[in-house]
Amino acid sequence: MDKDCVFCKISAKEIPAKIEYEDEYCLSFPDINPRAKTHLLVIPKKHIPTINDLEDGDEKITGRMLTVAKKVAAKFNMPSYRLLISVGKEAGQEVFHLHLHVMSPH
Ligand code: 5GP
Ligand code: ZN
Repeated sequence: MDKDCVFCKISAKEIPAKIEYEDEYCLSFPDINPRAKTHLLVIPKKHIPTINDLEDGDEKITGRMLTVAKKVAAKFNMPSYRLLISVGKEAGQEVFHLHLHVMSPH
């Protein structure tokens, strides 16, 4: 838990979000500023700032993030969708808590 991190606060239920999926490793909720008709985020509960901060042993978490993406895509009736992870400011990363964007094609 990083006390200044917006996604840690969502994970701790200190900031509201419509949680669409939750398990011991991950959460999924809609992006507050959707860039597609359906736009969800999948985050790990562990505060990992970026892909570059992954440690050996985090594979259980990163692997689970993909499985959760599949589950929320099915929940929102998306047979086809895009997955995106931005790494670093220059690539457009704004929130430095790892997150996977799950976006409908339109
Ligand atoms: P990034 O640009 O870092 O890959 O994506 C961060 C995403 O988080 C943005 O699409 C932004 O709209 C979303 N976001 C930022 N703050 C909040 C928040 O408090 N709640 C939710 N649901 N999404 C947020
Ligand atoms: Zn965090």
